[in-house]
Amino acid sequence: MQKSSCGRTLLLIIVGLLGLGGILGLYLWESYIQGLLPRPLPAFPTTLPFTPWPTPPAATTFDFPLLPADHYAPYVQGISGPLAVDTRYGAQNPAQGNRSNCFRDANGDPVPFSQLYHAGVDLFGVNEAGQVVWGQAKHAPVHAVADGVLVFTVNAGGEGYVVAIEHRLLDGSAVYSIYWHVSHVQALEGQPVTRGQMIAVVHDLGANSHLHWEMRTFYDGSDIFPAGTAGARGTCNRQLIGVGYTWDDVPARAHPDYYGYLDPIAFVESHR
Ligand SMILES: [Zn+2]
Repeated sequence: MQKSSCGRTLLLIIVGLLGLGGILGLYLWESYIQGLLPRPLPAFPTTLPFTPWPTPPAATTFDFPLLPADHYAPYVQGISGPLAVDTRYGAQNPAQGNRSNCFRDANGDPVPFSQLYHAGVDLFGVNEAGQVVWGQAKHAPVHAVADGVLVFTVNAGGEGYVVAIEHRLLDGSAVYSIYWHVSHVQALEGQPVTRGQMIAVVHDLGANSHLHWEMRTFYDGSDIFPAGTAGARGTCNRQLIGVGYTWDDVPARAHPDYYGYLDPIAFVESHR
């Protein structure tokens, strides 16, 4: 009788130790897996979005979406590296060559990608010398540039998500900050966000991981290109969100300024 009770206690101890060992093992394995990632990644929020969104509070101060700001910069030939690439706002991009999947000219012919104007800024990770470190921006937290309300997220598949935040300026006008090539979006449509709040991470595009960031005066791109302009004949993204590039047969209306895009870096620097 006593022998059997003793055996049962021993069995319980063994089972308990095995259980503890299992939990410890799982914990160590999880730590190991997390350690392999450059940053621990949050889950997507799961509650339902709510619309229409509330009026955003007035945004008095703006900041950069990737922080610290001096760890990220656009690619500029001769400054960020040797490639013939320029990913600043309003720049044309000779390195993109003759790829022509976006605009059509007046004859209906495709316009070479190198003639398009970049409508935002592509922020890459840079080292202390200001040189782009390929892939360094991958999974970097993306912060709301000012107080506002998240007004849409669009799943662009392999390109990551597009997120738009509406900001209300003190004069009552609205500007929109757009974040493209992001994933793990952390706020819902209709949800207020505050300046500096993490809203997503930079999507994994391998060496090309970067944040395409826009500041603009319009909500989406569905009606920015008037009839008869190149944009009305088709764009990179079928005008749905207006993200990316502008161009037109008439040079005076080719630049993104014409369509209500703003230079994001200049805008933040004048609203800090
Ligand atoms: Zn871009």
